[in-house]
Amino acid sequence: MNIHLPMSGLKVRPGKVLCIGRNYAAHAAEMQSDIPVAPVIFLKPPTALLGHGGEVLLPPASKDVHHEVELVVAIGKKGKNIPVSDALNHVEGYALGIDMTARDLQSEAKRCGLPWSVAKGFDTFAPLGTFTPARDISDPRRLRISLHVNGMLRQQGSVSRMLFGVDELVAYASSIFTLMPGDLMYTGTPEGVAAVEDGDRLVATGTGLQDLAVDVRRI
Ligand code: MN
Repeated sequence: MNIHLPMSGLKVRPGKVLCIGRNYAAHAAEMQSDIPVAPVIFLKPPTALLGHGGEVLLPPASKDVHHEVELVVAIGKKGKNIPVSDALNHVEGYALGIDMTARDLQSEAKRCGLPWSVAKGFDTFAPLGTFTPARDISDPRRLRISLHVNGMLRQQGSVSRMLFGVDELVAYASSIFTLMPGDLMYTGTPEGVAAVEDGDRLVATGTGLQDLAVDVRRI
């Protein structure tokens, strides 16, 4: 699968889809989770990606799929052990994304000490908007993101409220994984996550970012 990263004019085959959990204190609180001392990282398969205008498919395996609106970072330059001070130079663009989560399956996985790959990894569980070039966004901390469901505001957050900023997340992730061009990072969700239903329309918006709209359908 290729996704189009308009700022580069290239079709990039996404590699890793890194995701950060519990990166806003108010969301950690609503999940009754502790504030992490280091970024919580998990991965989604690239087959979960879904573009603007697509359909999120609710699988029969879950009765409780939640929306999590997030800022998504595209990596443009290979790097390992990137210093925080150089991290934003590895970011090629920013977009809106939605980390769809089968909350019932995730809760069960947490209870059993199992990974989140199933709860987070179904096809279409990673809606992703069009990227804005990083050069057009001088400071990602000034971005605000929000999500409307059927026209009603459900989530709203400021990137400045992240526990770990984009630079710290990129630096930390690169201490574990070699980051490659086309790698993506979903940077965590603010509070207000809730279940979606068949027929819902999700619209993510953000300052300086292109809207991302998807429809929800139960299969
Ligand atoms: Mn998330």
